[in-house]
Amino acid sequence: MTGTPAGAPADAPRPNRHARRTRPTTRRDHVTEVQPLKALDGRPLTLVHVQGRHPPTRGPVIVVHGAGVRAELFRPPLPRTFVDALLDDGWDVWLLNWRASIDLDPVPWTLDQAAAYDHPAAVAHVLDATGADRLKAVVHCQGSTSFTMAMAAGLLPEVDTVVSNAVSLHPVVPRLSTFKIGTLAPLISRVTPYLSPAWGDRPEGVVSRLMVWGVRATHPECRNPVCRMVSFTYGSGRPALWSHANLDEATHEWIRGEFAEVPMTFFAQMNRCIQAGHLVPTGAVEALPASFVARAPRTDARFVLVAGRDNRCFLADSQRRTFEFLQRHRPGRDSLHVLPGYGHLDVFLGRRAATETYPLILEELAR
Ligand SMILES: [Zn+2]
Repeated sequence: MTGTPAGAPADAPRPNRHARRTRPTTRRDHVTEVQPLKALDGRPLTLVHVQGRHPPTRGPVIVVHGAGVRAELFRPPLPRTFVDALLDDGWDVWLLNWRASIDLDPVPWTLDQAAAYDHPAAVAHVLDATGADRLKAVVHCQGSTSFTMAMAAGLLPEVDTVVSNAVSLHPVVPRLSTFKIGTLAPLISRVTPYLSPAWGDRPEGVVSRLMVWGVRATHPECRNPVCRMVSFTYGSGRPALWSHANLDEATHEWIRGEFAEVPMTFFAQMNRCIQAGHLVPTGAVEALPASFVARAPRTDARFVLVAGRDNRCFLADSQRRTFEFLQRHRPGRDSLHVLPGYGHLDVFLGRRAATETYPLILEELAR
């Protein structure tokens, strides 16, 4: 018998044990505090601490953006963002602006510097601020490659779970991207030290005007100049980082303010990584090993590898290869999720992400 609560009339609606006791947290409820910190080489970074309607009931999660964007990437104008979902699940949310962030002064960074200097400093800051001795990480794209380098090098022993989106140890890109990054990028780096999708709205000089003109001619898929520049800069799709069907209008417009400089130093390193089939250090940073794939990663953390099946920036094979690598070294510990209908960033920015992708990530974080 499923029963009715004692004393309640038989026709009263039964209380749903799973119903939320309060309304869900939305961006309006966020209390945001930007905390400055210094990377281990002295570079200024920030951590954005976000609190919701209720104090956290679980430990800290650090959330790490990709190249040429910023911590706000995870708070698009959706009714329910990934940050809302983390807060409602009780996590203590820390969004990192590492040296690739467009909220910081532009600098010619490499993945090595982020791995050796930024992520260890950020993790130490969060542990110190919260009093926790472990934390979890959700890392995206180049936030993920650099974080995985740090994990593999044994620099982040306090991190026990890493949810990685798009790419981690093994970058695999479409053939056109191999040409763009291998042939076009070295030519571009002779005339500009960085590329910026923001040029779509605000070109800076002759080179950027020419590039925007070329991109306009080859990317007829939409009328948003930054969206088209993003596709030129980061992949081979039209668009490259999401499907238009997955973005609502407000988010598609919002991205115009969310993409800016990415230095050619990054493309040079990523080109070598793509040629090698796995991440390759520059050799300029001592704390990192000569190879990230010659031995088992120096971490006991569990990796949750997420890939949009339609990703045209890094193919889903990127995460498949890293999963196979991890399986060889420590079978059964890690997991791989290939998401149909998703690409690169719509995993976080998609109009249906709140019901289609966030629950999977929350479930893995809570495991
Ligand atoms: Zn577009």
